[in-house]
Amino acid sequence: MRILVTGGAGFIGSHLCEYLLNQGNQVVCLDNFFTGQKRNIEPFLTNKNFELVEHNVTIPFDLKVDQIYNLACPASPIHYQKNPIETVRTNVLGAINCLDLSKKLGGVKVLQASTSEVYGDPAVHPQVETYNGNVNPIGPRACYDEGKRCAETLFFDYHREAKIPIKVVRIFNTYGPNMKKDDGRVVSNFIIQALRGDDITIYGSGEQTRSFCYVSDLILGLVKMMDFDGFSGPVNLGNPGEFTVKQLAEMVIEMTGSKSKIVYEPLPADDPKQRRPDIGLAKEKLDWAPKVQLAEGLEKTIAYFRKVN
Ligand code: NAD
Ligand code: UDP
Repeated sequence: MRILVTGGAGFIGSHLCEYLLNQGNQVVCLDNFFTGQKRNIEPFLTNKNFELVEHNVTIPFDLKVDQIYNLACPASPIHYQKNPIETVRTNVLGAINCLDLSKKLGGVKVLQASTSEVYGDPAVHPQVETYNGNVNPIGPRACYDEGKRCAETLFFDYHREAKIPIKVVRIFNTYGPNMKKDDGRVVSNFIIQALRGDDITIYGSGEQTRSFCYVSDLILGLVKMMDFDGFSGPVNLGNPGEFTVKQLAEMVIEMTGSKSKIVYEPLPADDPKQRRPDIGLAKEKLDWAPKVQLAEGLEKTIAYFRKVN
């Protein structure tokens, strides 16, 4: 198959491109390198089955493909808040352009990388797909959260109106090699700080929780969802192991053998207090569950950052 991956030069997108190429597909990676890195896709550039299209997903595009994965969007709070209007445009216009392309091609499957952020600061724990969330529509995170929520709306409206075969996955905090060093997300920040002997910056008390999924597990979930017919989602994909940010900091310090100290900085506005996916639906429909435990995934990620740091 010829498969389009928007955001293919990013962290998750580059792993997805690699997986799809290894399965014998042709891959078209569409990316404007807003947060993506050439080094992530460098190994594929000589592969005749790989094509790079430098393009902004907000501008319509015309490509002949059999499937579309829409991942184009900055995912780290510091990146998506840098230009919030562009973040909304990327989510909304990017979704419309992918859905219009699917329609033009006669209805090819199109998967939207949505997010646990659609649940906002959740009052229901763990988060189930039927929970409609608790998002502040006017806060600094809203460009991302509401942008992703609107993208989900567009996907389901195109499905109802134009019978487009859609797939909506809600991705929970994912980590691994190919994250940017200055990405700003907690796993990459803590590892880089620990390796450099810099202070480890915990925002707030560190009692807030997240559930961390290793990237290889996530990729299998994305592909299973794309390949499974008759189910549009939304479906949560994430690792239900729940850790406080403080526990993560302590694990990283121990695993790197770092002398870094923990320092406490102000908690950003609207930072969710808790997050853990209920993955019952993914297990039932896709027979999917993550296999890589946090310690094992951190080991691989630390090894990667030791090389590139
Ligand atoms: P990333 O920032 O590493 O990758 C995003 C990619 O999209 C980058 O290559 C970037 O250059 C590209 N991009 C951004 N705006 C674009 C535009 N207008 N046109 C074309 N390309 C554009 O982020 P990631 O962690 O790989 O996330 C990938 C997707 O998964 C995103 O849609 C994100 O919202 C979603 N997601 C990720 C996580 C996570 O924990 N990593 C969690 C939930 C959802
Ligand atoms: N965080 C932190 N120190 C950092 C980066 C992040 O304490 O250097 C916290 C952040 O406030 C949040 C959690 O770690 O509570 C996860 O942050 P991240 O940006 O990785 O993801 P998100 O908030 O989008 O889940």
